[in-house]
Amino acid sequence: KASQAQGKQPPRYARVNTLKTSQEDVIDYLKREGYTYLGRASSLEELQQLSGKRFYCDLHLPGLLVFPAKTDLHAHFLYQAGHIILQDKASCLPAFLLNPPAGAHVIDACAAPGNKTSHLAAVLGNRGKLFAFDLDPKRLSTMSTLLLRAGVTCHELANQDFLTLNPEDPRYSQVEYILLDPSCSGSGMVGRMDELTDSPGSVPAQRLQSLAAFQLRCLNHALCFPRLQRLIYSTCSVHEEENEGVVRACLREHRRSFRLVPVLPSWPERGQAPLTQCLRASPGETLTNGFFVAMLERRSPGEQEDE
Ligand code: SAM
Repeated sequence: KASQAQGKQPPRYARVNTLKTSQEDVIDYLKREGYTYLGRASSLEELQQLSGKRFYCDLHLPGLLVFPAKTDLHAHFLYQAGHIILQDKASCLPAFLLNPPAGAHVIDACAAPGNKTSHLAAVLGNRGKLFAFDLDPKRLSTMSTLLLRAGVTCHELANQDFLTLNPEDPRYSQVEYILLDPSCSGSGMVGRMDELTDSPGSVPAQRLQSLAAFQLRCLNHALCFPRLQRLIYSTCSVHEEENEGVVRACLREHRRSFRLVPVLPSWPERGQAPLTQCLRASPGETLTNGFFVAMLERRSPGEQEDE
Protein backbone atom coordinates (compact mmCIF):
# COMPACT_ATOMS: atom_id res chain seq x y z
CA LYS A 1 0.00 0.00 0.00
CA ALA A 2 1.14 3.56 -0.70
CA SER A 3 0.32 4.38 2.94
CA GLN A 4 3.31 2.22 3.94
CA ALA A 5 5.36 5.01 2.37
CA GLN A 6 4.68 7.22 5.40
CA GLY A 7 7.93 8.66 6.68
CA LYS A 8 9.73 8.13 3.36
CA GLN A 9 10.56 11.02 1.03
CA PRO A 10 8.09 11.35 -1.87
CA PRO A 11 9.52 10.88 -5.36
CA ARG A 12 10.71 13.88 -7.40
CA TYR A 13 8.42 15.19 -10.09
CA ALA A 14 9.24 17.10 -13.27
CA ARG A 15 6.49 18.61 -15.42
CA VAL A 16 7.29 18.72 -19.12
CA ASN A 17 6.84 22.32 -20.27
CA THR A 18 4.90 21.89 -23.51
CA LEU A 19 5.46 25.57 -24.35
CA LYS A 20 9.09 24.68 -25.06
CA THR A 21 9.32 20.98 -25.83
CA SER A 22 7.43 17.69 -25.90
CA GLN A 23 7.35 14.72 -23.55
CA GLU A 24 8.91 12.57 -26.28
CA ASP A 25 11.88 14.92 -26.68
CA VAL A 26 12.49 15.13 -22.93
CA ILE A 27 12.40 11.33 -22.61
CA ASP A 28 14.82 10.93 -25.55
CA TYR A 29 17.18 13.50 -24.03
CA LEU A 30 17.20 11.72 -20.66
CA LYS A 31 17.68 8.31 -22.29
CA ARG A 32 20.75 9.61 -24.11
CA GLU A 33 22.12 10.57 -20.69
CA GLY A 34 21.77 7.03 -19.38
CA TYR A 35 18.33 7.23 -17.77
CA THR A 36 15.92 4.33 -18.24
CA TYR A 37 12.31 5.19 -19.08
CA LEU A 38 9.87 2.66 -17.62
CA GLY A 39 6.69 3.93 -19.37
CA ARG A 40 3.51 5.01 -17.64
CA ALA A 41 3.33 3.82 -14.04
CA SER A 42 0.32 1.70 -13.17
CA SER A 43 0.37 2.16 -9.40
CA LEU A 44 1.67 4.46 -6.67
CA GLU A 45 3.68 1.53 -5.31
CA GLU A 46 5.72 1.47 -8.53
CA LEU A 47 6.54 5.16 -8.05
CA GLN A 48 7.56 4.59 -4.45
CA GLN A 49 9.93 1.79 -5.42
CA LEU A 50 11.86 3.80 -8.04
CA SER A 51 15.62 3.86 -7.65
CA GLY A 52 18.77 4.72 -9.59
CA LYS A 53 18.50 6.51 -12.95
CA ARG A 54 15.00 5.22 -13.72
CA PHE A 55 11.86 7.24 -14.27
CA TYR A 56 8.18 6.81 -15.07
CA CYS A 57 5.43 8.92 -16.57
CA ASP A 58 2.87 9.57 -13.81
CA LEU A 59 -0.32 7.50 -13.67
CA HIS A 60 -2.67 10.43 -12.93
CA LEU A 61 -1.21 13.51 -14.62
CA PRO A 62 -0.12 13.57 -18.27
CA GLY A 63 3.26 15.15 -18.98
CA LEU A 64 4.53 14.59 -15.44
CA LEU A 65 7.74 12.57 -15.08
CA VAL A 66 8.56 10.81 -11.81
CA PHE A 67 12.09 10.19 -10.49
CA PRO A 68 13.49 8.61 -7.32
CA ALA A 69 13.35 10.82 -4.20
CA LYS A 70 17.09 11.58 -4.23
CA THR A 71 17.16 12.93 -7.80
CA ASP A 72 18.15 16.60 -8.07
CA LEU A 73 17.62 18.13 -11.49
CA HIS A 74 18.11 21.80 -10.52
CA ALA A 75 21.45 22.00 -12.33
CA HIS A 76 20.20 20.01 -15.34
CA PHE A 77 20.05 21.65 -18.78
CA LEU A 78 16.37 20.71 -19.21
CA TYR A 79 15.47 22.64 -16.05
CA GLN A 80 17.79 25.58 -16.72
CA ALA A 81 16.34 25.96 -20.21
CA GLY A 82 12.73 25.81 -18.98
CA HIS A 83 11.98 22.51 -20.73
CA ILE A 84 11.02 20.90 -17.44
CA ILE A 85 9.50 22.53 -14.35
CA LEU A 86 10.35 20.98 -10.97
CA GLN A 87 6.96 21.00 -9.32
CA ASP A 88 5.36 18.68 -6.77
CA LYS A 89 2.66 16.46 -8.27
CA ALA A 90 -0.07 17.87 -5.99
CA SER A 91 0.70 21.41 -7.10
CA CYS A 92 0.15 20.32 -10.74
CA LEU A 93 -3.46 19.41 -9.94
CA PRO A 94 -5.01 22.92 -9.96
CA ALA A 95 -4.10 23.97 -13.54
CA PHE A 96 -4.70 20.44 -14.87
CA LEU A 97 -8.19 20.35 -13.34
CA LEU A 98 -9.14 23.94 -14.22
CA ASN A 99 -8.29 22.99 -17.80
CA PRO A 100 -9.13 26.26 -19.60
CA PRO A 101 -9.42 25.88 -23.38
CA ALA A 102 -7.01 27.73 -25.70
CA GLY A 103 -8.16 31.34 -26.06
CA ALA A 104 -9.87 31.53 -22.65
CA HIS A 105 -9.50 34.44 -20.24
CA VAL A 106 -8.17 33.21 -16.88
CA ILE A 107 -7.33 34.84 -13.54
CA ASP A 108 -4.58 33.45 -11.32
CA ALA A 109 -5.53 35.36 -8.18
CA CYS A 110 -2.55 34.72 -5.88
CA ALA A 111 0.04 33.74 -8.41
CA ALA A 112 3.65 34.12 -7.23
CA PRO A 113 6.13 32.49 -7.60
CA GLY A 114 4.20 31.26 -10.61
CA ASN A 115 4.55 27.53 -11.16
CA LYS A 116 0.79 27.18 -11.51
CA THR A 117 0.68 30.25 -13.77
CA SER A 118 3.23 28.69 -16.11
CA HIS A 119 1.27 25.43 -16.04
CA LEU A 120 -1.94 27.35 -16.91
CA ALA A 121 -0.13 29.04 -19.82
CA ALA A 122 0.94 25.61 -21.07
CA VAL A 123 -2.66 24.31 -20.84
CA LEU A 124 -3.76 27.40 -22.81
CA GLY A 125 -0.94 26.86 -25.33
CA ASN A 126 -0.13 30.56 -24.69
CA ARG A 127 -3.41 31.43 -26.42
CA GLY A 128 -5.89 33.56 -24.49
CA LYS A 129 -5.27 35.85 -21.55
CA LEU A 130 -3.82 35.01 -18.18
CA PHE A 131 -4.25 37.78 -15.60
CA ALA A 132 -1.90 37.03 -12.70
CA PHE A 133 -1.87 38.96 -9.41
CA ASP A 134 0.21 38.97 -6.28
CA LEU A 135 0.77 41.32 -3.35
CA ASP A 136 4.44 40.55 -2.83
CA PRO A 137 6.83 42.44 -5.18
CA LYS A 138 9.81 40.19 -4.37
CA ARG A 139 7.88 37.04 -5.20
CA LEU A 140 6.62 38.76 -8.37
CA SER A 141 10.13 39.46 -9.55
CA THR A 142 11.07 35.78 -9.06
CA MET A 143 7.93 35.00 -10.99
CA SER A 144 8.90 37.19 -13.97
CA THR A 145 12.18 35.27 -14.30
CA LEU A 146 10.36 31.94 -14.02
CA LEU A 147 7.76 32.86 -16.65
CA LEU A 148 10.42 34.15 -19.04
CA ARG A 149 12.38 30.90 -18.71
CA ALA A 150 9.20 28.91 -19.27
CA GLY A 151 8.34 30.82 -22.47
CA VAL A 152 5.03 32.19 -21.13
CA THR A 153 3.72 35.05 -23.25
CA CYS A 154 -0.05 35.18 -22.65
CA HIS A 155 0.14 36.72 -19.16
CA GLU A 156 -0.39 40.15 -17.62
CA LEU A 157 1.35 40.35 -14.27
CA ALA A 158 0.22 42.89 -11.65
CA ASN A 159 1.35 43.75 -8.15
CA GLN A 160 -2.17 44.04 -6.84
CA ASP A 161 -4.39 42.89 -4.01
CA PHE A 162 -6.85 40.45 -5.58
CA LEU A 163 -9.47 41.55 -3.04
CA THR A 164 -9.42 45.11 -4.45
CA LEU A 165 -9.87 43.97 -8.06
CA ASN A 166 -13.18 45.19 -9.48
CA PRO A 167 -15.06 42.20 -10.95
CA GLU A 168 -17.11 44.62 -13.07
CA ASP A 169 -14.00 46.07 -14.77
CA PRO A 170 -14.49 45.53 -18.53
CA ARG A 171 -10.95 44.07 -18.70
CA TYR A 172 -12.24 41.00 -16.86
CA SER A 173 -15.57 40.76 -18.63
CA GLN A 174 -14.52 37.59 -20.46
CA VAL A 175 -12.94 35.81 -17.50
CA GLU A 176 -14.51 32.35 -17.25
CA TYR A 177 -11.81 30.53 -15.25
CA ILE A 178 -10.18 31.42 -11.93
CA LEU A 179 -7.40 29.66 -10.07
CA LEU A 180 -7.35 30.64 -6.40
CA ASP A 181 -4.32 29.40 -4.48
CA PRO A 182 -4.22 31.87 -1.58
CA SER A 183 -1.74 32.17 1.27
CA CYS A 184 -2.23 29.32 3.73
CA SER A 185 -0.49 27.80 6.75
CA GLY A 186 1.69 25.65 4.47
CA SER A 187 1.17 22.80 6.93
CA GLY A 188 1.19 20.24 4.12
CA MET A 189 4.69 21.01 2.89
CA VAL A 190 6.85 17.96 3.56
CA GLY A 191 9.94 19.98 4.62
CA ARG A 192 7.83 22.05 7.02
CA MET A 193 6.33 18.97 8.63
CA ASP A 194 9.78 17.57 9.38
CA GLU A 195 10.87 20.79 11.05
CA LEU A 196 7.96 21.04 13.43
CA THR A 197 8.77 19.75 16.85
CA ASP A 198 5.32 19.15 18.36
CA SER A 199 2.55 17.46 16.35
CA PRO A 200 3.18 17.48 12.57
CA GLY A 201 1.57 20.42 10.84
CA SER A 202 0.55 22.18 14.08
CA VAL A 203 -0.58 25.80 13.57
CA PRO A 204 -2.01 28.05 16.32
CA ALA A 205 -5.83 28.12 16.27
CA GLN A 206 -5.92 31.89 15.97
CA ARG A 207 -3.67 31.85 12.89
CA LEU A 208 -5.84 29.19 11.28
CA GLN A 209 -8.91 31.28 11.97
CA SER A 210 -7.48 34.41 10.39
CA LEU A 211 -6.14 32.48 7.37
CA ALA A 212 -9.52 30.82 6.86
CA ALA A 213 -11.28 34.21 7.05
CA PHE A 214 -8.90 35.60 4.39
CA GLN A 215 -9.29 32.52 2.18
CA LEU A 216 -13.09 32.76 2.40
CA ARG A 217 -13.01 36.45 1.46
CA CYS A 218 -10.87 35.59 -1.59
CA LEU A 219 -13.21 32.77 -2.59
CA ASN A 220 -16.35 34.88 -2.20
CA HIS A 221 -14.70 37.67 -4.18
CA ALA A 222 -13.69 35.31 -6.99
CA LEU A 223 -17.29 34.14 -7.37
CA CYS A 224 -18.35 37.77 -8.07
CA PHE A 225 -16.75 37.77 -11.56
CA PRO A 226 -19.81 37.93 -13.79
CA ARG A 227 -18.76 35.45 -16.51
CA LEU A 228 -17.00 32.97 -14.21
CA GLN A 229 -17.80 29.37 -15.13
CA ARG A 230 -15.23 27.30 -13.24
CA LEU A 231 -12.98 27.92 -10.25
CA ILE A 232 -10.29 25.88 -8.55
CA TYR A 233 -9.57 26.56 -4.89
CA SER A 234 -6.36 25.00 -3.57
CA THR A 235 -4.12 25.10 -0.50
CA CYS A 236 -1.00 23.31 0.67
CA SER A 237 -2.56 22.98 4.12
CA VAL A 238 -3.69 19.82 5.89
CA HIS A 239 -6.11 21.74 8.12
CA GLU A 240 -9.84 21.26 7.68
CA GLU A 241 -10.42 24.92 8.67
CA GLU A 242 -8.54 26.15 5.56
CA ASN A 243 -9.93 23.48 3.25
CA GLU A 244 -13.37 21.87 3.56
CA GLY A 245 -14.27 24.52 6.18
CA VAL A 246 -13.73 27.38 3.70
CA VAL A 247 -15.58 25.59 0.89
CA ARG A 248 -18.53 24.76 3.15
CA ALA A 249 -18.82 28.36 4.34
CA CYS A 250 -18.67 29.62 0.76
CA LEU A 251 -21.32 27.19 -0.47
CA ARG A 252 -23.66 28.31 2.32
CA GLU A 253 -23.73 31.68 0.55
CA HIS A 254 -23.40 30.63 -3.08
CA ARG A 255 -24.96 27.18 -3.42
CA ARG A 256 -27.78 28.59 -5.54
CA SER A 257 -25.37 29.72 -8.26
CA PHE A 258 -22.39 27.38 -7.86
CA ARG A 259 -21.95 23.66 -7.26
CA LEU A 260 -19.06 21.57 -6.06
CA VAL A 261 -17.86 19.29 -8.85
CA PRO A 262 -16.47 15.78 -8.21
CA VAL A 263 -12.93 15.73 -9.61
CA LEU A 264 -10.56 12.99 -10.76
CA PRO A 265 -12.40 9.84 -9.59
CA SER A 266 -9.20 7.81 -9.88
CA TRP A 267 -7.51 9.97 -7.21
CA PRO A 268 -7.31 7.89 -4.02
CA GLU A 269 -7.50 10.55 -1.30
CA ARG A 270 -10.72 12.57 -1.01
CA GLY A 271 -11.92 15.62 0.93
CA GLN A 272 -13.30 14.99 4.40
CA ALA A 273 -16.92 13.77 4.30
CA PRO A 274 -19.32 15.00 3.14
CA LEU A 275 -17.12 17.01 0.73
CA THR A 276 -15.69 13.94 -0.98
CA GLN A 277 -15.98 15.71 -4.36
CA CYS A 278 -12.78 17.52 -3.31
CA LEU A 279 -9.27 16.05 -3.38
CA ARG A 280 -6.73 15.76 -0.66
CA ALA A 281 -3.11 14.75 -1.09
CA SER A 282 -0.46 13.64 1.39
CA PRO A 283 2.96 11.97 1.51
CA GLY A 284 1.47 8.74 2.91
CA GLU A 285 -1.47 8.30 0.51
CA THR A 286 -0.51 10.04 -2.74
CA LEU A 287 3.31 10.44 -2.45
CA THR A 288 3.08 14.23 -2.59
CA ASN A 289 3.01 17.21 -0.27
CA GLY A 290 -0.16 17.70 1.75
CA PHE A 291 -2.63 19.52 -0.50
CA PHE A 292 -6.33 20.26 -1.01
CA VAL A 293 -8.30 21.01 -4.20
CA ALA A 294 -11.94 21.97 -4.71
CA MET A 295 -13.62 22.76 -8.02
CA LEU A 296 -16.72 24.95 -8.27
CA GLU A 297 -18.79 25.45 -11.40
CA ARG A 298 -21.59 27.89 -12.11
CA ARG A 299 -24.98 26.21 -12.30
CA SER A 300 -26.81 26.47 -15.57
CA PRO A 301 -30.00 28.56 -15.46
CA GLY A 302 -32.85 26.53 -13.95
CA GLU A 303 -30.52 23.81 -12.61
CA GLN A 304 -31.79 22.25 -9.37
CA GLU A 305 -29.80 22.91 -6.23
CA ASP A 306 -28.48 19.65 -4.75
CA GLU A 307 -28.42 18.92 -1.05
N1 SAM B 1 0.07 29.94 -6.86
C1 SAM B 1 1.46 30.15 -6.49
C2 SAM B 1 2.33 29.15 -7.23
O1 SAM B 1 1.85 28.09 -7.62
O2 SAM B 1 3.52 29.42 -7.44
C3 SAM B 1 1.65 30.07 -5.00
C4 SAM B 1 0.78 31.07 -4.27
S1 SAM B 1 1.14 31.22 -2.55
C5 SAM B 1 0.35 29.86 -1.87
C6 SAM B 1 0.07 32.54 -2.11
C7 SAM B 1 0.45 33.88 -2.69
O3 SAM B 1 -0.64 34.79 -2.43
C8 SAM B 1 1.68 34.55 -2.08
O4 SAM B 1 2.62 34.79 -3.09
C9 SAM B 1 1.16 35.89 -1.51
O5 SAM B 1 2.05 36.95 -1.70
C10 SAM B 1 -0.11 36.08 -2.32
N2 SAM B 1 -1.17 36.91 -1.71
C11 SAM B 1 -1.54 36.98 -0.42
N3 SAM B 1 -2.59 37.81 -0.27
C12 SAM B 1 -2.90 38.27 -1.51
C13 SAM B 1 -3.89 39.16 -2.03
N4 SAM B 1 -4.78 39.74 -1.23
N5 SAM B 1 -3.92 39.41 -3.36
C14 SAM B 1 -3.01 38.82 -4.19
N6 SAM B 1 -2.05 37.97 -3.75
C15 SAM B 1 -1.99 37.70 -2.44
